[in-house]
Amino acid sequence: MTKNITCVTCPMGCAITVELSDSGEVLSVKGNTCKRGEVYAVNECTHPQRSLATTVKVEGGIHNVVPCKSAGALPKEKIFDCMEEINKACAKAPVALGDVLVENVCNTGINIVATNHCPAR
Ligand code: SF4
Repeated sequence: MTKNITCVTCPMGCAITVELSDSGEVLSVKGNTCKRGEVYAVNECTHPQRSLATTVKVEGGIHNVVPCKSAGALPKEKIFDCMEEINKACAKAPVALGDVLVENVCNTGINIVATNHCPAR
């Protein structure tokens, strides 16, 4: 089986073809211009990850929500569960840039942190 992947590690966007065995083992990687593309393609085929940027509700702030992001990449298959947990969270104002709003989201070991501040009302 082959998988066609566009490397998003840099703006060149190389088209990479990964050949996989029936059990999902990577047999070959072609089309990458550099080693980073190979690492990206192998990860994408074996344990895909995504960064998450969204908002968390704020109580008592001048805004109702504050923007946030995952402090690292999350397993792709857990993104919807993480969004559910983040949607249930509510931060208390004031929120400072970098504050941890959700710790260890869905037991991934990754925190959700504020990417802006939100002063109290
Ligand atoms: S393979 Fe290397 S050069 Fe190509 S997009 Fe990925 S990081 Fe950039």
